[in-house]
Amino acid sequence: MYMQKLQANNKAIFLTRKFSFDSAHRLSNYAGKCKNLHGHTYFLEVTIKGKVNKKTGMVMDFEDIKEIVDKLVLKKLDHQYINKTIKVSTAENIVQWIWKVLNKGFKKYDVELYMIKLWETPNSCAIYKLPGYED
Ligand SMILES: [Zn+2]
Repeated sequence: MYMQKLQANNKAIFLTRKFSFDSAHRLSNYAGKCKNLHGHTYFLEVTIKGKVNKKTGMVMDFEDIKEIVDKLVLKKLDHQYINKTIKVSTAENIVQWIWKVLNKGFKKYDVELYMIKLWETPNSCAIYKLPGYED
């Protein structure tokens, strides 16, 4: 009984918080619709992985996740021209940029950034996962 309880407490829990932002971009070396200047409403899902703190009963406060993403990502991309920050603004490159800045932002917490999902349209998304968990 005790062992079961201990194992349950040690299990990693994943927390996801959703965000959205509106941005302009263009893909200059591209023959499709994204060649011309236009906008998207991007949806962003940020997933972190960690153990439940026995005192708080939480892996991390959802409000802290929001604060980090607001400060490091949304302030720079929401209602902005993405190409000013990410030159070739494909979903693939944006998701990598978001990973890089958020990974630094979560360093002071006892969690790992696990996955970023960036939806460019309701049907298309790019995913970046913690190295070693790509499968
Ligand atoms: Zn586009």
